Amino acid sequence: MGRISAEWLQLPVLQDLFTALNCDGHEARVVGGAVRDYLLGLPVNEIDFAATSKPPETTRLIEAAGFKAVPTGEDHGTVTAVRDGRSFEITTLRRDVKTDGRHAEVEFGTDWEEDATRRDFTINALYVDADGEMHDPLGVRQDVEDRQVRFIGDAGTRIAEDYLRILRFFRFFARFGSGRPDADGLKACARLKSGLTGLSVERIWQEVSKLLVTRDPGRAILWMRTTGVLTAVVPESENWGIDLIAPLLRAELEQGWEIDLTTRLAAMLPPQKERVEAFASRLKISNRAQTNLMDWLEAKEIFDAADTPRLRKALYLGSADGQIVKGKLEYARRQLPDAKQRGGLSDEDLLTAIDYARTWQRPGLPVAGRDLLELGFAPGPGIGEELTRLSQIWIESDFTLTNDELLAKISSSSGE
Ligand code: ATP
Ligand code: MG
Repeated sequence: MGRISAEWLQLPVLQDLFTALNCDGHEARVVGGAVRDYLLGLPVNEIDFAATSKPPETTRLIEAAGFKAVPTGEDHGTVTAVRDGRSFEITTLRRDVKTDGRHAEVEFGTDWEEDATRRDFTINALYVDADGEMHDPLGVRQDVEDRQVRFIGDAGTRIAEDYLRILRFFRFFARFGSGRPDADGLKACARLKSGLTGLSVERIWQEVSKLLVTRDPGRAILWMRTTGVLTAVVPESENWGIDLIAPLLRAELEQGWEIDLTTRLAAMLPPQKERVEAFASRLKISNRAQTNLMDWLEAKEIFDAADTPRLRKALYLGSADGQIVKGKLEYARRQLPDAKQRGGLSDEDLLTAIDYARTWQRPGLPVAGRDLLELGFAPGPGIGEELTRLSQIWIESDFTLTNDELLAKISSSSGE
């Protein structure tokens, strides 16, 4: 099968973990994402292990080698090993004995081929041992090379075992796929999409958000829409449409804009508070993600001039991130074939304003309560009121007034 010489394989902490796990007749191998990404020449972030030892044994072996063992999903057979600021998930070889589309009852085993067979896609079923030797129990290496995302076994059967695999199919297609998605997989996803409703919203959102921040989710999203999978998980996108996605992705590449979850999501959601709130609460997205969406909705059409006091004021008083999302989507909208011109700003000025907002640093008010106390203000609400007044003067000065200049503007009636 051949040896690989990945840099991460030489990490002392990783080799120590191998040594610990390859004890007492047990064996461990790196599996899944790390092997796949290495073969594709991509950076490897997470390194996951499969091991023949059962969780209590795994815990004992790694603790003896100075790792901290964190039980991560004991009924699934996963223990996380932590040492030297790195962590690795170790999952006992297993076989799914019973599945209901959401949870699997597992049986631990020692058979590598069985372990490979219960994994989702062929590209995720390659293993590497401590010496860097590659193991391919299902003979699927070519799929990795061809970037072919295919279910292991019958697509329909595998989806019915765990409907999350529908979303994982599109996520891995977004990341690795080229051309059209695998036809059998696509058909099965379309046929079985109603099973998605039985999944926990946390699992759904985790997959959807991961998909949205891949470099180019455009084709995956189109296929999700064609198969009705997108409507099943984001019904808000149904009548609104996803036309903005393609021009947004193009602009991101052309302009060097960062990949941003809020922007990508906003390109599919109707800009209406109730719809966005319904989306956020249904999928229980994080407070932070919710705030970001609200900032976008509340952002004003400020992009009426690039680099002006008015722009700086809007960025300061509103949310700069929200304004950036709004600006990017407006630029994407303008690239649509039948787009009507809105506002007086040229495309070029709009881009300048977006760039300005992206690099803008929020200035700090140059006076503080301490300055007022030193000037004889009595502690209390009067200080806050005076600071608010000074900050308004400062904003109107286009943030130019200094501490001295502002203190010179203290209203004499409030002082002393
Ligand atoms: P990523 O880089 O996104 O983390 P990954 O391949 O490591 O990719 P994970 O979600 O971390 O993906 O899962 C690790 C491995 O566990 C996968 O490679 C796959 O073999 C297996 N796996 C994960 N989820 C499922 C599932 N729902 N059904 C079957 N196998 C799964
Ligand atoms: Mg992973």
